[in-house]
Amino acid sequence: MSTKSYVVGFPRIGEKRELKKVLESFWAKKCSFDEVEKVSSNLKQKHWEYQKDAGIEYISSNDFSLYDNVLDTSIMLNAIPKRFQNLKAEELYFSMARGNKNSVAMEMTKWFNTNYHYIVPELSLEDEYKLNASKIINEYNEAKNLGIKTKINLIGPITFLALSKRVDRGDTFELLGKILPVYKELFKEISKLDEVITVQIDEPIFAKDNEAKVLSLIKPTYDELSMVTNNIKLIVTTYFEHSNEATKILTQTPVWGLGLDFVYGKDNLQVLEEIQNSGKKLVAGVVDGRNIWKNDIDTTLKLLEEISNVVSKENILISSSCSLLHTPFTLKYEVKMDENIKSWLSFSVEKLDEINLLAKVFFDGIENLSNEEAKALEENRKNNKNRKTSDLIHDKEVQERVDNFTKLNRDGKFEERIKIQRELLGYKDLATTTIGSFPQTPEIRKSRRDFKKGEISYETYEKDMKTYIDDCIAFQEECGLEVLVHGEPERNDMVEYFGEQLKGYGFSQNGWVQSYGSRCVKPPFIFGDISRPKPMTVDWITYAQSKTKKIMKGMLTGPVTILNWSFVRDDKPRSEVSKQIAVALSDEINDLQNAGIKIIQVDEAAFKEGYPLREKKIKTYEDWAVRDFKICVSSAKKETQIHTHMCYSEFNDIIKTIEAMDADVISIETARSGNELLKIFKEVGYKQEVGPGVYDIHSPRVPSVQEMVEQIKLLLEVLPKEQLWINPDCGLKTRKWEEVKPSLKNMVEAVNIIRNS
Ligand code: GLN
Ligand code: ZN
Repeated sequence: MSTKSYVVGFPRIGEKRELKKVLESFWAKKCSFDEVEKVSSNLKQKHWEYQKDAGIEYISSNDFSLYDNVLDTSIMLNAIPKRFQNLKAEELYFSMARGNKNSVAMEMTKWFNTNYHYIVPELSLEDEYKLNASKIINEYNEAKNLGIKTKINLIGPITFLALSKRVDRGDTFELLGKILPVYKELFKEISKLDEVITVQIDEPIFAKDNEAKVLSLIKPTYDELSMVTNNIKLIVTTYFEHSNEATKILTQTPVWGLGLDFVYGKDNLQVLEEIQNSGKKLVAGVVDGRNIWKNDIDTTLKLLEEISNVVSKENILISSSCSLLHTPFTLKYEVKMDENIKSWLSFSVEKLDEINLLAKVFFDGIENLSNEEAKALEENRKNNKNRKTSDLIHDKEVQERVDNFTKLNRDGKFEERIKIQRELLGYKDLATTTIGSFPQTPEIRKSRRDFKKGEISYETYEKDMKTYIDDCIAFQEECGLEVLVHGEPERNDMVEYFGEQLKGYGFSQNGWVQSYGSRCVKPPFIFGDISRPKPMTVDWITYAQSKTKKIMKGMLTGPVTILNWSFVRDDKPRSEVSKQIAVALSDEINDLQNAGIKIIQVDEAAFKEGYPLREKKIKTYEDWAVRDFKICVSSAKKETQIHTHMCYSEFNDIIKTIEAMDADVISIETARSGNELLKIFKEVGYKQEVGPGVYDIHSPRVPSVQEMVEQIKLLLEVLPKEQLWINPDCGLKTRKWEEVKPSLKNMVEAVNIIRNS
């Protein structure tokens, strides 16, 4: 009997980040493109074999990519922006992704609510689209030559258009008539490859709230695509949420199957009847493709029973909830991890076995398992049981404190607080500061690394950090900035640093996940109740304060950002985990102010990232996210000024939420958009103070005094000087001192010119 096991897609960067390494070496002109292709072929083969060996029946081709599979789709359609059109193939692809000396790169943005970034297609009404199927065909044949018959993964036309932008800012869906013929052409090519072929078309846009206009495109599109040939079995796949509106429509088309996410889209259960009546296959995504926890096989079997109460068992396939791209590769290299904790985890390779085991138990029955499979099931039960009770995870004291935590607000209203603060702190209008970090030099990186490896003592490490802080302060004083920072030399990352000091946090050695192109991140994971054994930043900040008479701003990462940039335990609601972090941070704030720190910034860089895909769920998220920011700062006395920082470019939808967070000052990234972003603050009568970035730090260019004078004038057209702070955009840590120093000096001078005019 076939196992009917299915994987939506597999990660591609390589379990030792082989793809990252070869790409970066190629970009640095240290190896040839042949070398890139060789490494890629090896990786593809390895990934296919992992899946085959695990007994997976539906294995993908075209899930590999040298940079990004949305970019691959643009290439497939020949949707190439004008500025790249005369480039040759190899150069073309990476130039689109990364820019070249003549042209800026295409925009990059987050893939739904994940931390994966795709390259935003740029479409134009003038473009002529034509098929370039070579990657797709080659990859299929590559696998076939290895004896593996794959399903072909594609990004669907509706999602592609929804994620695109048009150069004239028009409606991208108007281009459907132009790209659909290319997809049909592609289907013809694919149909020649084999007698019967499975094609998986990803349409994750269906998991959002779509306008009727978009929904109306689904039926004609999939009717047409299904009509092209009769030897393609077409599966339309969605993930990250339910896609019920689209599912109902798709059941009325000739597609062969539907792939649905039952982990993050439980509401998909509501349309089982329609699926059953349509007789379509259901690819049931029941193994979490976005998190790292071992599947609880017994619970999942219950879910599968629930599904098969409605949908005939022979129409069900067992799958990951989405591409495994969003989880690390394998636990194989985790040699330092606590064995208990490790036994609760499952990365991509381990998830393959879970999918296979689930399929075996579900279709063949427990009694027909092989000895090995039965042992694996026993092991799974044991590990999950142990996780439910382990005292590494469950901390009564923390739970009680967090449950009974009642201080949900700061003392005093903003109007009252700001008066006290301004009197005490004495900063001027248009006060100057920075967002926190200063250049991460090779020396501090080395010192951190050596200390971590145990190659230098704490004393040496501390001395290195303090030397950096001294220099950083000396520069800020020389430059004339008013509110100083210590520069964050001890942090390689704004979440990992805190994670390492909080109880309940775990780390992998090799748990890399692709973020974009060759860039990978290694998110820490929250496995247990969170508490703070001891102060985390107080020593550094008080040291820094002791070195200056000016005000030293303390620097923390906020609870929602810590949560959103970690893998989070799945045995508690995110809102509860977030509250635990908030309570721990409120203690840190209290310790900082008791140690004499008068301004504390709580960064919420990832606040917006956590927004749910469906409108209906937004309010709940906002409610607890705001609650937890407020809990975190609730310990701040009236005279302690709380800053926050958010780094994105769209505040219109969330301005009221931000206001409700009740920070005294918020700094934002605005340099690239003049005063546009500020307007909404004025429109809603935002009371608190605002620090808009006045120069873009993403470029090595040093902005001139005059340019920043103009920028500040623009800001003053929107908000009064009493309400404004002046700072650069965030991210100084990515620049060099040679760039940062003159830029900040110019910024301070620009402020002085404005003040004296
Ligand atoms: N304080 C942090 C820094 O300056 C903020 C980083 C961020 O917003 N992403 O690096
Ligand atoms: Zn930022």
